[in-house]
Amino acid sequence: MKILDGKIVKAQILAKLKEEVQNLERMPGLVVIQVGNDSASEIYVGQKEKMANQLGYKFKHIKLSGDISQAELEKIIKEINSDQSIDGLLVQMPLPKHIDSKKIQNLIDCDKDVDGLSDVNAGKLTHNVDTLMPCTPKGIMDILDYYSISVEGKNVVIVGRSDLVGKPLASMMLNNNATVTICHSKTKNLELFTKMADILVVAVGKKGIITGNMISDGTIVIDVGINRVDGKLYGDVDFESVKDKVSFITPVPGGVGQMTVAELGQNVLKAYKKRKI
Ligand code: NAP
Repeated sequence: MKILDGKIVKAQILAKLKEEVQNLERMPGLVVIQVGNDSASEIYVGQKEKMANQLGYKFKHIKLSGDISQAELEKIIKEINSDQSIDGLLVQMPLPKHIDSKKIQNLIDCDKDVDGLSDVNAGKLTHNVDTLMPCTPKGIMDILDYYSISVEGKNVVIVGRSDLVGKPLASMMLNNNATVTICHSKTKNLELFTKMADILVVAVGKKGIITGNMISDGTIVIDVGINRVDGKLYGDVDFESVKDKVSFITPVPGGVGQMTVAELGQNVLKAYKKRKI
């Protein structure tokens, strides 16, 4: 078994970006909007700020009260859309229940949509048109690429069909000539599919949902799950029972979770280049 180490891949991506950013005419600008005081969001925004500072991006954190109205939030987004010094805009999820999150995501200028979650960018990805792509699935593709694992012709089984991970990943895999199967909560006999996988990606959010008896020898396993139990992080894959069967595996922590912020850094630079202002 070989560990696919997200920390190494992240460090390489950030080092390359830093070098490239030093030679730009102006600093790429990233704005992160946070609504309310969600404690996990505080941590995630902090990680984004650290990355931006490390790369030399202009970074602005707009923190808004949890009772802001939809109209007020929309007004702020429209202002940032027309701010020429800003290349990337991200609204930290989850938003309070009274806010229409889908509408907010689709209001962001699609050329500044560094989360890649707007319907326009999701559609372009489906049609294999180069665009800003969601960070976590892009991070999975980059880990595989770093370790020279080609997906072409492979049976890729993805457990989970969220707009954030499973669906965009399925498009990326398909665009790279994998044969893709997507499983979800209504899938019958999950292990029939997981056993077929050359590459198994698990993005469910349930600790240990995949066990050793559900996979075949030599499977490459990508564990996207982040489950916090008694202050400790666990993946969706039961590491102990799969470790002697897999050929490669991403650990939790230290695997896919490392990649999201690095991919955001890549998307900000991509947005900057796309806008060429
Ligand atoms: P999500 O939106 O809750 O989607 C979960 C998916 O799992 C759904 O498609 C659901 O099916 C499916 N599912 C639920 N129970 C299942 C079962 N018993 N068998 C098969 N499929 C099942 O979650 P998400 O946002 O994609 O995130 C998934 C996990 O990845 C979470 O642990 C999250 O914390 C983690 N994550 C990590 C990163 C990172 O590493 N940076 C980023 C994003 C997410 P239905 O569609 O039928 O409901």
